[in-house]
Amino acid sequence: VDKIKMNLPIVEMDGDEMTRIIWKMIKDTLLEPYIDLKTEYYDLGLQKRDETDDQITVDAANAIKKYGVGVKCATITPNADRVKEYNLKNMWKSPNGTIRAILDGTVFRTPIIVDSIKPYVKTWKKPITVARHAYGDIYKDVECRIEGPAKVELVATYENGEVSRQTIHEFKGPGVTLGMHNLDKSIESFARACFNYSLDIKQDLWFASKDTISKTYDHRFKDIFQEIYDSEYKEKFEAAGISYFYTLIDDAIARVVKSEGGMVWACKNYDGDVMSDLVATAFGSLAMMTSVLVSPEGYYEFEAAHGTVQRHYYKHLEGETTSTNSMATIFAWTGALRKRGELDNISELVEFANKLEASCIRTIEEGVMTKDLASISEVQDKKIVNTEEFLTEVKKRLDETL
Ligand code: NAD
Repeated sequence: VDKIKMNLPIVEMDGDEMTRIIWKMIKDTLLEPYIDLKTEYYDLGLQKRDETDDQITVDAANAIKKYGVGVKCATITPNADRVKEYNLKNMWKSPNGTIRAILDGTVFRTPIIVDSIKPYVKTWKKPITVARHAYGDIYKDVECRIEGPAKVELVATYENGEVSRQTIHEFKGPGVTLGMHNLDKSIESFARACFNYSLDIKQDLWFASKDTISKTYDHRFKDIFQEIYDSEYKEKFEAAGISYFYTLIDDAIARVVKSEGGMVWACKNYDGDVMSDLVATAFGSLAMMTSVLVSPEGYYEFEAAHGTVQRHYYKHLEGETTSTNSMATIFAWTGALRKRGELDNISELVEFANKLEASCIRTIEEGVMTKDLASISEVQDKKIVNTEEFLTEVKKRLDETL
């Protein structure tokens, strides 16, 4: 059979531990037999990052800017234990953080929905995508312990010498205080990334903050979203039959829980941190969450939301059988292939991505799954398979549809 031809490459970022093992299996079993796979390969495995003083991560991010589409395997973010384990020169920063900073991107996390795995929230029928603003607020704050009676002030000194000064609190005894910030430019990028993504997947966009209490800070977020919506996206949203909806964060949470799902939920940095884990858990499994980083210029980086599945890797090294769920990593690849196909007008590539995803979902619906899903799936006759068998089962179904 003729393999599907590609025009431009996908930036391929290899990773660590069990997900690195799965990465190769997916390519061998599900991609290369069908596609003349064109990638520009960057090895973001910890060893290579150490060898290159992490330059490889920067190079990979720049390659995404060049080609527009990347796919990334999970990688180790080193801590003290990893520095010892891998004998590292340095405690390198999180590759995801580095790439996100270079692309100025927003991360969108979406669960893969399978009929036989019911979300904990009964009303949810469609996926909920959480978009988290990835700059500022308490993640870049300055904090101070107040030891005793003190007057704490918020002071802004402008370049022209103007000074604005407000009292935060006149402390009579010990306490704590903090100062934090955000930038119009970053909020604007975040807003555009969210509006673009909603248009892309044709789902409503929700945004929430606490502007009734935070009358300047959060209100600025609300205004920026509204201004950008009115001037740049209103018509496009109406044409696509979708809407933009703003409400207070507490109201948003109540509405999300009572909704059917099927929307993009834009969250401020801290809200997104908390809500993305809540939504992931409520949908059933971390192994079924996909993640895509979208830059305001429209560059895309796809990955699984989970980590390197370290425990399975050590079992694998011992020669034991593993049952690692490869769904989110496969969906990272299909996301990248579909986007590449759309950008380059290669409909076969888009079709292939759709069929591969459908085959994955069918495999689980028919009761064939990895161990992590066995306890949450409602299918009667379950066949629990190992890491490799799952891919073979998907391939069997994919071959039937091609
Ligand atoms: P993890 O996601 O690897 O594992 C968390 C738990 O979920 C474990 O119990 C694991 O067995 C289970 N799990 C996750 N994915 C699974 C899958 N596909 N199939 C079956 N079970 C699965 O996170 P962790 O253990 O906290 O971290 C391990 C390593 O991954 C760390 O070094 C961390 O730095 C890295 N990490 C990387 C990313 C990323 O690259 N995006 C994200 C998170 C963690």
